[in-house]
Amino acid sequence: MSIDNVDVIVVGGGPTGMTAAGDLARSGRSVVVLERWPAINQSSRAFATMARTLEVLDARGLADGLLADGHQAPGVTIFGGAQIDLTHLDSPYQFVMVTPQTNVDQALAGYAVAQGADVRRGIEIIGLDQDADGVTVTARPHGGGNELRWRAKYVIGADGAHSTVRELVGADFPGRTILSSIVLADVKLAHGPSGAGPRLHSTRDVFAFLVPYDRHDADGSWYRTMVWDRSNQLPDTEPVAQDEIEGVFARALDTDPGLLEVSWKSRFHCDERQVVHYRHGRVFLAGDAAHVHSPMGGQGMNTGIQDAANLAWKVDAVLAGADDAVLDTYHDERHPIGKRVLVQSGLMARGIKLHPLPARKMRNLLAPRLLRIPRFRDTIAGSFAGTTLRYAHRRGESSLVGTRATRIPLVHERITQLQRQPGFVLVRERGARAIDAEGLLQAERADAGPAVLVRPDGYIAWAGESADRSAWTPVLARWTGRGQSCAPATALMPSSSANCAAE
Ligand SMILES: Cc1cc2nc3c(=O)[nH]c(=O)nc-3n(C[C@H](O)[C@H](O)[C@H](O)COP(=O)(O)OP(=O)(O)OC[C@H]3O[C@@H](n4cnc5c(N)ncnc54)[C@H](O)[C@@H]3O)c2cc1C
Repeated sequence: MSIDNVDVIVVGGGPTGMTAAGDLARSGRSVVVLERWPAINQSSRAFATMARTLEVLDARGLADGLLADGHQAPGVTIFGGAQIDLTHLDSPYQFVMVTPQTNVDQALAGYAVAQGADVRRGIEIIGLDQDADGVTVTARPHGGGNELRWRAKYVIGADGAHSTVRELVGADFPGRTILSSIVLADVKLAHGPSGAGPRLHSTRDVFAFLVPYDRHDADGSWYRTMVWDRSNQLPDTEPVAQDEIEGVFARALDTDPGLLEVSWKSRFHCDERQVVHYRHGRVFLAGDAAHVHSPMGGQGMNTGIQDAANLAWKVDAVLAGADDAVLDTYHDERHPIGKRVLVQSGLMARGIKLHPLPARKMRNLLAPRLLRIPRFRDTIAGSFAGTTLRYAHRRGESSLVGTRATRIPLVHERITQLQRQPGFVLVRERGARAIDAEGLLQAERADAGPAVLVRPDGYIAWAGESADRSAWTPVLARWTGRGQSCAPATALMPSSSANCAAE
């Protein structure tokens, strides 16, 4: 049997896998994506794309296209009329984009293919063996056929909640089910709730979450809905009846929304689980393969895309000669974020299904008041939107290290535009002269802040004086393996093909 050799095998062509594949291919790496299903999953699950993800998508040239078709909701109304207000976010995207996940999946799949990733649909992996030099993956056509083999330096397991890769590396997935028999559907309503954003309606025994799409017919408007009934707990395999949805609407909403049509429906349960290690030698777990949680708060797809953005450039850097320890930082940085997402979405789910009346009264009293306090409002909104999430910085480093650089104003363009090319960006102080450094993207900031070195995923790696090369070159060398003195620049080159002379 012949074996195809590539730099990286990505298992799973969902949003996580396609982000990773596109980024690696953009850096010049050979990548194959093995995806079980012959076509993009049409059973769209996610509807909320958060601000930080929009920034990540903008750095891949995808945000504007998605926003053209998406609905921009300024906030999310939860219990007691409390609103997670996104209009003060420290981001160009002061809203949540409401669009079916299939649109995001499609955009990312297009990106991966355009960058040169080899996407093989209808192929599922069934075996994986790693040794000191690489990983061999065995796959077969979905539905049967001859076995196929690929060999790569690294494998990214982005194959979702029921990950085969996770199983093949023997990773535990500890956790438990927290909500069952949730019905997800796309519905047309004659008198859907007005107001701009996603809205939760609940009583002690039922909830209905309604998310408006920008899709209107002459007789009504379309919404994505999630409904749940404490007294109607059925297995996922049980079909959903339209009157089940209607029944929950009647109990949860103040007025009859006039259900006209259900275009798509399914029943699911949600678990709260996270793998203990995101790295297993040459194999990495990302997205739902690494963490699953309640869909409350719209975090799963967003977190998966950001896992991929964190991992891909590190794999590229190590393939280009950086120290293997760079790959450990994927777990170090993303595992705590995944844990936080589990806690945050879990709190939201538990808050929604809270049963004792006094506790619900207290919740309804406190939540709206707390969310009106600017500091609390912005902390919660930033956490859901991903804009306040940061990575740790080392002792002695600037506290800017680990924060995202997106908001730094530049004299020309914005950072996410520059980052449509792979590699680090040195943002110099306002008025500072360009540095002779081949292979390093550079920009000048338009405000009075310090120079910063920005990682390919948009987070700050160093802050200080750009003229002080001895301060930032070791940081660049630590992350990329590139030598500490760079030859005068002749052209901007991607990090993986940069040509700095070692000292
Ligand atoms: C009701 C609901 C609402 C949600 N709402 C939101 C939201 O608003 N915002 C948000 O951010 N998230 C939301 N999520 C979560 C979001 O849908 C997931 O987190 C996201 O799809 C995970 O992306 P992924 O690429 O990691 O995995 P997936 O999208 O599951 O993709 C994994 C891929 O791997 C493939 N695969 C599996 N096994 C194999 C194999 N052996 N070989 C090859 N391929 C394989 C699968 O076919 C699949 O295409 C929601 C989830 C649900 C259920």
